[in-house]
Amino acid sequence: MQSREQVYNFSSGPAALAPSVLQNAARALTDLNGTGIGILEHSHRGSAFLEVLQAAEANIRTLAAVPDDYAVLFMTASATHHFTLLARNFLASSAGDATADYCDTGVWSNKAIAAAKPFGNVHIACSAAPDFTAIPTTLNLSPGTRYVHFTSNNTIYGTQWQTEPQVGATPLICDASSDIFSKPIDISRYALLYAGAQKNLGPSGISLVIARREFLATAAPGLAPLEDYRTYDREQSLYNTPNTFGIFVIGETVKWLLAQGGLAAIAEHNAHKAARLYNFLEESEMWRARARVGHRSLMNVTFGGSTKEHEEAFLTRAEALGLSGLRGHRALGGLRASIYNAFPLQGVEALIAALKAYELENR
Ligand SMILES: *Cc1c(COP(=O)(O)O)cnc(C)c1O
Repeated sequence: MQSREQVYNFSSGPAALAPSVLQNAARALTDLNGTGIGILEHSHRGSAFLEVLQAAEANIRTLAAVPDDYAVLFMTASATHHFTLLARNFLASSAGDATADYCDTGVWSNKAIAAAKPFGNVHIACSAAPDFTAIPTTLNLSPGTRYVHFTSNNTIYGTQWQTEPQVGATPLICDASSDIFSKPIDISRYALLYAGAQKNLGPSGISLVIARREFLATAAPGLAPLEDYRTYDREQSLYNTPNTFGIFVIGETVKWLLAQGGLAAIAEHNAHKAARLYNFLEESEMWRARARVGHRSLMNVTFGGSTKEHEEAFLTRAEALGLSGLRGHRALGGLRASIYNAFPLQGVEALIAALKAYELENR
Protein backbone atom coordinates (compact mmCIF):
# COMPACT_ATOMS: atom_id res chain seq x y z
CA MET A 1 0.00 0.00 0.00
CA GLN A 2 1.17 3.49 -0.85
CA SER A 3 -0.53 6.75 0.04
CA ARG A 4 -0.84 9.71 -2.31
CA GLU A 5 1.87 11.57 -0.35
CA GLN A 6 4.36 8.77 -1.08
CA VAL A 7 3.86 8.60 -4.84
CA TYR A 8 4.96 10.62 -7.84
CA ASN A 9 2.81 9.69 -10.82
CA PHE A 10 4.76 9.80 -14.10
CA SER A 11 1.89 8.25 -16.06
CA SER A 12 1.57 9.34 -19.71
CA GLY A 13 -2.23 9.55 -19.50
CA PRO A 14 -4.56 9.54 -17.75
CA ALA A 15 -2.06 11.56 -15.79
CA ALA A 16 -1.46 13.59 -12.65
CA LEU A 17 -3.82 16.47 -11.97
CA ALA A 18 -3.29 19.38 -9.58
CA PRO A 19 -4.17 18.42 -5.97
CA SER A 20 -6.44 21.46 -5.55
CA VAL A 21 -8.35 20.49 -8.71
CA LEU A 22 -8.94 17.01 -7.32
CA GLN A 23 -10.03 18.41 -3.96
CA ASN A 24 -12.54 20.71 -5.65
CA ALA A 25 -13.79 17.80 -7.77
CA ALA A 26 -14.18 15.65 -4.66
CA ARG A 27 -16.20 18.36 -2.97
CA ALA A 28 -18.35 18.93 -6.07
CA LEU A 29 -19.12 15.22 -6.26
CA THR A 30 -21.50 15.56 -3.32
CA ASP A 31 -22.30 19.27 -3.49
CA LEU A 32 -21.74 21.55 -6.48
CA ASN A 33 -21.22 25.14 -5.29
CA GLY A 34 -23.60 24.95 -2.32
CA THR A 35 -26.56 23.57 -4.31
CA GLY A 36 -26.85 20.43 -2.19
CA ILE A 37 -26.65 18.38 -5.40
CA GLY A 38 -23.50 16.79 -6.78
CA ILE A 39 -21.97 17.50 -10.20
CA LEU A 40 -22.85 13.97 -11.38
CA GLU A 41 -26.49 14.55 -10.43
CA HIS A 42 -27.19 18.00 -11.85
CA SER A 43 -29.16 18.40 -15.08
CA HIS A 44 -26.95 19.56 -17.93
CA ARG A 45 -29.66 22.13 -18.72
CA GLY A 46 -29.88 23.50 -15.18
CA SER A 47 -28.39 26.85 -14.16
CA ALA A 48 -25.84 25.28 -11.79
CA PHE A 49 -24.20 23.28 -14.57
CA LEU A 50 -24.61 26.03 -17.17
CA GLU A 51 -22.55 28.27 -14.90
CA VAL A 52 -19.83 25.62 -14.81
CA LEU A 53 -19.88 25.28 -18.60
CA GLN A 54 -19.86 29.00 -19.31
CA ALA A 55 -17.11 29.69 -16.77
CA ALA A 56 -14.98 26.91 -18.25
CA GLU A 57 -15.34 28.35 -21.74
CA ALA A 58 -14.76 31.93 -20.60
CA ASN A 59 -11.64 30.95 -18.66
CA ILE A 60 -10.25 29.03 -21.65
CA ARG A 61 -10.81 32.09 -23.81
CA THR A 62 -8.93 34.21 -21.27
CA LEU A 63 -6.12 31.73 -20.67
CA ALA A 64 -5.29 31.20 -24.36
CA ALA A 65 -6.52 34.56 -25.71
CA VAL A 66 -8.91 32.72 -28.01
CA PRO A 67 -10.15 35.11 -30.73
CA ASP A 68 -13.91 35.79 -30.82
CA ASP A 69 -14.40 34.15 -34.19
CA TYR A 70 -13.26 30.82 -32.77
CA ALA A 71 -15.54 28.17 -31.28
CA VAL A 72 -14.59 26.49 -28.01
CA LEU A 73 -16.19 23.04 -27.86
CA PHE A 74 -16.37 20.28 -25.27
CA MET A 75 -17.02 17.01 -27.02
CA THR A 76 -17.77 13.52 -25.78
CA ALA A 77 -15.06 12.21 -28.03
CA SER A 78 -11.43 11.36 -27.51
CA ALA A 79 -8.54 12.54 -29.67
CA THR A 80 -8.80 9.30 -31.60
CA HIS A 81 -12.39 10.11 -32.58
CA HIS A 82 -11.21 13.40 -34.04
CA PHE A 83 -8.78 11.56 -36.32
CA THR A 84 -11.87 10.30 -38.16
CA LEU A 85 -14.17 13.25 -37.57
CA LEU A 86 -11.86 15.91 -38.90
CA ALA A 87 -11.16 13.97 -42.09
CA ARG A 88 -14.89 13.32 -42.51
CA ASN A 89 -15.48 17.05 -42.20
CA PHE A 90 -12.60 18.55 -44.11
CA LEU A 91 -11.07 15.91 -46.39
CA ALA A 92 -14.20 14.18 -47.66
CA SER A 93 -15.60 15.62 -50.90
CA SER A 94 -18.27 14.45 -53.30
CA ALA A 95 -15.67 13.48 -55.89
CA GLY A 96 -13.45 11.86 -53.25
CA ASP A 97 -10.36 13.38 -54.82
CA ALA A 98 -9.35 16.01 -52.25
CA THR A 99 -5.93 15.84 -50.62
CA ALA A 100 -4.77 16.58 -47.08
CA ASP A 101 -1.18 16.85 -45.84
CA TYR A 102 -0.05 15.03 -42.72
CA CYS A 103 3.13 15.27 -40.70
CA ASP A 104 4.17 11.80 -39.63
CA THR A 105 5.97 12.17 -36.30
CA GLY A 106 4.97 9.02 -34.46
CA VAL A 107 2.31 6.59 -33.35
CA TRP A 108 -0.50 9.12 -32.92
CA SER A 109 0.07 10.90 -36.21
CA ASN A 110 0.12 7.47 -37.86
CA LYS A 111 -3.28 6.70 -36.43
CA ALA A 112 -4.56 10.07 -37.65
CA ILE A 113 -3.22 9.24 -41.12
CA ALA A 114 -4.85 5.80 -41.15
CA ALA A 115 -8.18 7.30 -40.07
CA ALA A 116 -8.12 9.91 -42.86
CA LYS A 117 -7.41 7.53 -45.74
CA PRO A 118 -11.02 6.39 -46.33
CA PHE A 119 -12.03 10.01 -47.00
CA GLY A 120 -9.56 11.16 -49.65
CA ASN A 121 -5.90 11.38 -50.59
CA VAL A 122 -3.45 11.56 -47.74
CA HIS A 123 -0.08 13.05 -48.56
CA ILE A 124 2.78 12.67 -46.10
CA ALA A 125 4.24 16.18 -46.02
CA CYS A 126 7.10 15.19 -43.73
CA SER A 127 8.15 12.14 -41.79
CA ALA A 128 10.30 11.42 -38.78
CA ALA A 129 10.45 7.71 -39.64
CA PRO A 130 12.03 5.36 -38.90
CA ASP A 131 13.42 6.36 -35.49
CA PHE A 132 11.17 9.34 -34.64
CA THR A 133 13.85 11.02 -32.52
CA ALA A 134 13.43 14.44 -34.16
CA ILE A 135 10.82 16.72 -35.73
CA PRO A 136 11.28 17.01 -39.52
CA THR A 137 12.63 20.36 -40.64
CA THR A 138 11.26 20.52 -44.18
CA LEU A 139 7.66 20.34 -45.20
CA ASN A 140 6.51 19.19 -48.62
CA LEU A 141 3.02 20.57 -49.12
CA SER A 142 0.85 19.28 -51.95
CA PRO A 143 -0.83 21.81 -54.24
CA GLY A 144 -4.44 22.56 -53.31
CA THR A 145 -4.20 20.68 -50.03
CA ARG A 146 -7.28 20.99 -47.77
CA TYR A 147 -5.28 21.21 -44.55
CA VAL A 148 -2.04 20.29 -42.83
CA HIS A 149 -2.33 18.05 -39.79
CA PHE A 150 0.40 17.74 -37.16
CA THR A 151 0.84 16.33 -33.66
CA SER A 152 2.35 19.10 -31.55
CA ASN A 153 3.82 16.77 -28.93
CA ASN A 154 4.66 13.12 -29.55
CA THR A 155 3.68 11.54 -26.28
CA ILE A 156 5.25 8.17 -27.06
CA TYR A 157 8.55 9.20 -28.69
CA GLY A 158 9.11 12.29 -26.57
CA THR A 159 9.55 14.84 -29.34
CA GLN A 160 7.77 18.18 -29.64
CA TRP A 161 7.39 20.82 -32.33
CA GLN A 162 9.22 23.88 -31.02
CA THR A 163 7.12 26.13 -33.28
CA GLU A 164 4.17 25.42 -35.55
CA PRO A 165 4.93 24.12 -39.06
CA GLN A 166 5.02 26.97 -41.57
CA VAL A 167 2.04 26.42 -43.86
CA GLY A 168 1.19 29.88 -45.17
CA ALA A 169 -2.53 30.23 -45.80
CA THR A 170 -3.25 26.48 -45.67
CA PRO A 171 -5.53 25.59 -42.74
CA LEU A 172 -3.50 24.09 -39.91
CA ILE A 173 -5.01 21.31 -37.77
CA CYS A 174 -3.29 20.16 -34.61
CA ASP A 175 -3.59 17.22 -32.27
CA ALA A 176 -2.48 19.02 -29.10
CA SER A 177 -3.52 16.26 -26.71
CA SER A 178 -0.30 16.06 -24.77
CA ASP A 179 0.92 19.65 -24.65
CA ILE A 180 -2.19 21.81 -24.71
CA PHE A 181 -1.90 24.82 -22.41
CA SER A 182 1.67 23.92 -21.46
CA LYS A 183 3.02 27.14 -23.02
CA PRO A 184 1.70 30.28 -24.73
CA ILE A 185 -0.10 29.59 -28.00
CA ASP A 186 -1.19 31.83 -30.88
CA ILE A 187 -4.61 30.35 -31.62
CA SER A 188 -5.00 32.49 -34.74
CA ARG A 189 -2.42 30.29 -36.48
CA TYR A 190 -4.76 27.30 -36.25
CA ALA A 191 -7.86 26.37 -38.20
CA LEU A 192 -8.68 23.66 -35.68
CA LEU A 193 -6.96 22.35 -32.60
CA TYR A 194 -8.13 19.41 -30.54
CA ALA A 195 -6.97 17.67 -27.40
CA GLY A 196 -8.09 14.63 -25.48
CA ALA A 197 -8.33 15.83 -21.89
CA GLN A 198 -6.49 13.13 -19.96
CA LYS A 199 -2.93 14.46 -20.33
CA ASN A 200 -3.09 18.11 -19.39
CA LEU A 201 -6.73 18.99 -18.71
CA GLY A 202 -8.84 16.44 -16.90
CA PRO A 203 -10.37 12.97 -17.24
CA SER A 204 -10.41 10.72 -20.32
CA GLY A 205 -13.45 10.46 -22.57
CA ILE A 206 -13.77 14.16 -23.30
CA SER A 207 -11.95 16.49 -25.63
CA LEU A 208 -11.54 20.19 -26.08
CA VAL A 209 -11.75 21.66 -29.58
CA ILE A 210 -10.85 25.22 -30.53
CA ALA A 211 -11.71 26.05 -34.13
CA ARG A 212 -12.10 28.99 -36.46
CA ARG A 213 -15.80 29.22 -37.38
CA GLU A 214 -14.95 30.22 -40.95
CA PHE A 215 -13.02 26.95 -41.30
CA LEU A 216 -15.82 24.86 -39.79
CA ALA A 217 -18.09 26.32 -42.47
CA THR A 218 -15.96 24.64 -45.17
CA ALA A 219 -17.04 21.16 -44.00
CA ALA A 220 -18.18 18.59 -46.56
CA PRO A 221 -21.90 18.56 -47.37
CA GLY A 222 -24.19 15.85 -46.05
CA LEU A 223 -22.82 15.51 -42.53
CA ALA A 224 -25.03 13.99 -39.84
CA PRO A 225 -25.50 16.36 -36.87
CA LEU A 226 -23.25 14.43 -34.50
CA GLU A 227 -20.30 14.39 -36.91
CA ASP A 228 -20.57 18.08 -37.73
CA TYR A 229 -18.44 20.35 -35.51
CA ARG A 230 -20.91 23.18 -36.17
CA THR A 231 -23.62 21.30 -34.28
CA TYR A 232 -21.57 21.49 -31.07
CA ASP A 233 -20.89 25.16 -31.66
CA ARG A 234 -24.52 26.04 -32.37
CA GLU A 235 -25.74 24.06 -29.34
CA GLN A 236 -22.94 25.30 -27.03
CA SER A 237 -21.66 21.74 -26.53
CA LEU A 238 -25.14 20.63 -25.38
CA TYR A 239 -26.48 18.80 -28.46
CA ASN A 240 -26.08 15.53 -26.59
CA THR A 241 -25.76 15.26 -22.81
CA PRO A 242 -22.11 16.17 -22.41
CA ASN A 243 -19.59 14.73 -19.98
CA THR A 244 -20.59 17.20 -17.27
CA PHE A 245 -18.02 15.97 -14.78
CA GLY A 246 -15.27 16.19 -17.40
CA ILE A 247 -16.24 19.78 -18.19
CA PHE A 248 -16.17 20.58 -14.47
CA VAL A 249 -12.65 19.18 -14.07
CA ILE A 250 -11.34 20.92 -17.20
CA GLY A 251 -12.84 24.16 -15.84
CA GLU A 252 -11.05 23.67 -12.52
CA THR A 253 -7.76 22.92 -14.28
CA VAL A 254 -8.05 26.09 -16.33
CA LYS A 255 -8.81 28.12 -13.19
CA TRP A 256 -5.76 26.55 -11.58
CA LEU A 257 -3.63 27.49 -14.61
CA LEU A 258 -4.85 31.09 -14.41
CA ALA A 259 -3.99 31.12 -10.69
CA GLN A 260 -0.46 29.86 -11.52
CA GLY A 261 0.00 33.00 -13.62
CA GLY A 262 -1.24 31.72 -16.97
CA LEU A 263 0.54 30.06 -19.87
CA ALA A 264 3.78 32.04 -19.73
CA ALA A 265 4.24 31.13 -16.07
CA ILE A 266 3.42 27.45 -16.55
CA ALA A 267 5.77 27.34 -19.57
CA GLU A 268 8.62 28.61 -17.44
CA HIS A 269 7.86 26.01 -14.79
CA ASN A 270 7.68 23.24 -17.41
CA ALA A 271 10.94 24.34 -19.06
CA HIS A 272 12.70 24.30 -15.70
CA LYS A 273 11.40 20.84 -14.78
CA ALA A 274 12.37 19.33 -18.13
CA ALA A 275 15.78 21.04 -18.21
CA ARG A 276 16.65 19.57 -14.80
CA LEU A 277 16.01 16.06 -16.10
CA TYR A 278 17.58 16.49 -19.56
CA ASN A 279 20.68 18.10 -18.02
CA PHE A 280 21.07 15.16 -15.68
CA LEU A 281 20.69 12.72 -18.60
CA GLU A 282 23.39 14.61 -20.54
CA GLU A 283 25.82 14.21 -17.65
CA SER A 284 25.00 10.62 -16.83
CA GLU A 285 27.06 7.76 -18.22
CA MET A 286 24.33 5.21 -17.68
CA TRP A 287 21.13 7.07 -18.63
CA ARG A 288 20.61 8.70 -22.02
CA ALA A 289 17.81 10.85 -23.45
CA ARG A 290 16.25 9.37 -26.57
CA ALA A 291 15.12 12.44 -28.51
CA ARG A 292 17.59 14.75 -30.24
CA VAL A 293 18.56 18.11 -28.76
CA GLY A 294 16.32 20.84 -30.15
CA HIS A 295 13.43 18.41 -30.68
CA ARG A 296 12.85 17.26 -27.14
CA SER A 297 9.48 17.26 -25.45
CA LEU A 298 9.02 19.22 -22.24
CA MET A 299 6.08 16.94 -21.41
CA ASN A 300 7.36 13.40 -22.04
CA VAL A 301 11.04 12.73 -21.41
CA THR A 302 11.99 9.42 -23.05
CA PHE A 303 15.29 7.84 -22.07
CA GLY A 304 17.12 4.55 -21.78
CA GLY A 305 19.83 2.86 -19.72
CA SER A 306 23.14 1.41 -20.85
CA THR A 307 21.58 -2.09 -20.75
CA LYS A 308 18.05 -3.56 -20.69
CA GLU A 309 18.92 -5.16 -17.34
CA HIS A 310 19.63 -1.78 -15.78
CA GLU A 311 16.35 -0.42 -17.13
CA GLU A 312 14.36 -3.31 -15.65
CA ALA A 313 16.18 -3.21 -12.31
CA PHE A 314 15.66 0.52 -12.05
CA LEU A 315 11.95 0.29 -12.94
CA THR A 316 11.46 -2.23 -10.13
CA ARG A 317 13.27 -0.03 -7.68
CA ALA A 318 11.42 3.08 -8.86
CA GLU A 319 8.03 1.50 -8.14
CA ALA A 320 9.20 0.62 -4.62
CA LEU A 321 10.33 4.24 -4.16
CA GLY A 322 6.91 5.55 -5.22
CA LEU A 323 8.12 6.70 -8.63
CA SER A 324 5.24 5.28 -10.63
CA GLY A 325 4.51 4.91 -14.34
CA LEU A 326 8.05 5.23 -15.73
CA ARG A 327 7.95 2.30 -18.14
CA GLY A 328 8.26 3.49 -21.74
CA HIS A 329 5.54 2.79 -24.29
CA ARG A 330 5.47 -0.81 -25.48
CA ALA A 331 6.27 0.38 -29.03
CA LEU A 332 9.79 1.44 -28.09
CA GLY A 333 10.65 0.28 -24.56
CA GLY A 334 13.03 2.15 -22.30
CA LEU A 335 11.74 4.69 -19.80
CA ARG A 336 9.50 7.70 -20.05
CA ALA A 337 8.86 10.40 -17.48
CA SER A 338 5.64 12.24 -18.28
CA ILE A 339 5.83 15.58 -16.53
CA TYR A 340 2.76 17.51 -17.60
CA ASN A 341 1.66 20.86 -16.16
CA ALA A 342 0.45 19.43 -12.86
CA PHE A 343 3.54 17.29 -12.24
CA PRO A 344 5.64 18.83 -9.43
CA LEU A 345 9.32 19.76 -9.63
CA GLN A 346 9.96 17.72 -6.46
CA GLY A 347 8.96 14.59 -8.41
CA VAL A 348 11.56 15.35 -11.06
CA GLU A 349 14.18 15.89 -8.35
CA ALA A 350 13.21 12.58 -6.73
CA LEU A 351 13.62 10.78 -10.06
CA ILE A 352 17.03 12.36 -10.68
CA ALA A 353 18.19 11.38 -7.19
CA ALA A 354 17.06 7.78 -7.73
CA LEU A 355 18.69 7.51 -11.17
CA LYS A 356 21.90 8.99 -9.78
CA ALA A 357 21.97 6.63 -6.79
CA TYR A 358 21.36 3.62 -9.02
CA GLU A 359 24.17 4.67 -11.35
CA LEU A 360 26.63 5.16 -8.47
CA GLU A 361 25.86 1.70 -7.11
CA ASN A 362 26.11 -0.03 -10.47
CA ARG A 363 29.12 1.55 -12.10
C1 LIG B 1 -3.14 10.13 -25.79
C2 LIG B 1 -3.11 10.71 -27.14
C3 LIG B 1 -4.09 10.44 -28.10
C4 LIG B 1 -5.22 9.46 -27.87
O1 LIG B 1 -6.13 9.84 -26.94
P1 LIG B 1 -7.47 8.97 -26.76
O2 LIG B 1 -8.17 9.64 -25.65
O3 LIG B 1 -7.04 7.57 -26.42
O4 LIG B 1 -8.19 9.01 -28.05
C5 LIG B 1 -4.00 11.06 -29.32
N1 LIG B 1 -2.99 11.90 -29.60
C6 LIG B 1 -2.02 12.18 -28.71
C7 LIG B 1 -0.94 13.14 -29.07
C8 LIG B 1 -2.05 11.59 -27.46
O5 LIG B 1 -1.09 11.87 -26.56
